[in-house]
Amino acid sequence: MSNATEIIIFYRYVRISDPKAFVARQREMCEKLGLFGRILIAEEGINGTLEGSLSAIAEYESWMHALPEFSDLWFKSSPGTGDAFGKLVVKLRNEIVATGLPKERDIDPNVLTGTHIDPVQLKQWIANGEDFEIIDMRNEYEYAVGHFAGSNNSTMGNFRDLPNIAKKFDHLKKKKVLTVCTYGVRCEKASGFLKQEGFEDVYQLNGGIGTYMKQFPGEDFLGSLYVFDGRMTEQFTKNYMVIGECTSCSSKTERFGNCAWDECHKQLLICMNCAKHAKGIWCTDDCMVGAASGVPVR
Ligand SMILES: [Zn+2]
Ligand SMILES: [Zn+2]
Repeated sequence: MSNATEIIIFYRYVRISDPKAFVARQREMCEKLGLFGRILIAEEGINGTLEGSLSAIAEYESWMHALPEFSDLWFKSSPGTGDAFGKLVVKLRNEIVATGLPKERDIDPNVLTGTHIDPVQLKQWIANGEDFEIIDMRNEYEYAVGHFAGSNNSTMGNFRDLPNIAKKFDHLKKKKVLTVCTYGVRCEKASGFLKQEGFEDVYQLNGGIGTYMKQFPGEDFLGSLYVFDGRMTEQFTKNYMVIGECTSCSSKTERFGNCAWDECHKQLLICMNCAKHAKGIWCTDDCMVGAASGVPVR
């Protein structure tokens, strides 16, 4: 045993009275345990992902569980790689996931959020041919490497585009709608936001896509799960189909690069071959023109 490591991912929307002090406590504990990763803390809660040795992660979890407001905190766990994160970042923020919602339209998931359903319930909906629509609340590049069959792509560039997506799905307002995201945190506000915008029957996938894939590997979800660490994608079975396509040559790939225009730098799927041989790959013609003109637009 070993150098085995574990990656955990967790969040909770709960009032934190002294976020600044909590940042310091978290940092101190993570440093003591040699954990790497990223924790965001705000008055509204905590959102984190960490990697460490099995014993260090176990110690961190029991330390958190000893705090009254986190006594039943759910740590979703995956096998580590040893280098999923280059460092430890613990930060104070206004929101634990930036939504782009103005203060007066902000969502408190403890007050307004979609009904949580577990993977087993979703499996039943699918099996029973239930009439519902999945709205994938992740970014476009995440959707590009993997998504539920038949789900709706939000086409967000990042989650701060959330205020703009209600219009896009206006035609689903009266339908049964399920929001999904990686491990659940984005859906807490995204599903509440849809309700605020007048969507009548809104659900969210408890534990997110990762939890579903762990329970039903290789089923219903096509491709692999984008993750925000050195792994880039997470797989739950060897028998999965690569659905990502290179932006330049359309060959199947799960390799990410960036738009060659400095002002854009958006994440794109770029296959190894194109990365080696193309002079630059841009997400759109606009970006190619922008790069050629050298004019900073944003
Ligand atoms: Zn290519
Ligand atoms: Zn671009």
